Amino acid sequence: MNHELVETFRKKLDNLTISDYHGLNSPGLTCYLNSVLQLLFMTEDFRASIKRCCSKDSTTIDALLKKLFDDLERSLAQTHCLTKKLGIVDVFKQRDAAEYFEKILCLTSPEASKIFKGQLNHKITCVWCKKTNDSRGFFWILPLAVENSSRQTYSVERGLMAFFSKEKVYGENRMYCTQCDKKQDAVIDCEMTENPKILALLLKRFAFDYGCRQFVKLHCEVDVPQTLHMQDCKYDLYALVHHVGNLTGGHYTAEIKSFETGEWYCFDDDIVDMVKPLFGSGNSVR
Ligand SMILES: [Zn+2]
Repeated sequence: MNHELVETFRKKLDNLTISDYHGLNSPGLTCYLNSVLQLLFMTEDFRASIKRCCSKDSTTIDALLKKLFDDLERSLAQTHCLTKKLGIVDVFKQRDAAEYFEKILCLTSPEASKIFKGQLNHKITCVWCKKTNDSRGFFWILPLAVENSSRQTYSVERGLMAFFSKEKVYGENRMYCTQCDKKQDAVIDCEMTENPKILALLLKRFAFDYGCRQFVKLHCEVDVPQTLHMQDCKYDLYALVHHVGNLTGGHYTAEIKSFETGEWYCFDDDIVDMVKPLFGSGNSVR
């Protein structure tokens, strides 16, 4: 064999990545969608529900997801049909991964999406007459506002405590009480009335900067625990969708622990690499 041919093969072998999983080949810059699709594919119950789907019901995207999941089990897969169905016309425009996570779940059959569905109750209590008013609503994601502090590490556990802490509203923000028939000071209390089987948290890493009069991304460190205990539920972290860059541009990737191999992988569009476990000797990731 001549030397040139050997070199060509060597280069090809060097560029060859071997992974247990396959990437997504998409039109344009749809990393926000790819990260979310890989997350859903790597969620055992969701994948199983979608794979059971045999309906031709065009009001849901189950059949399209099933085709994608079948493809992903064999090779690099295409997302063209999904981008079209999701109404993404400009595939070069950056969008929000959390928004598309919700969009996909809204378009999926309830049997498949129910594992992500939880319910919150905002209870408003009039400080004067103690009358309470319940307002229940479902959610796919709990949004946590990351505080604008460059020196401190933001703690997800503290963020959740803040989300569920009581808030007193008064002055201009007073609420109308039907029993008192006027605006009164009130206490708003948020409680989780139905725990989702899989809890999705959104870290809102942006804040309005009054100096430059625009929203900016908050780059502070975040402490994410391996296990969260909420009421009687225990949640183990198995997936993180990362955004690098700023609010005008950037890139999304997903780091996911496989329920099949127990290993962690980084899903970066068409490339999937095995990565070292997110949790080593410590019990949290930053
Ligand atoms: Zn009242």
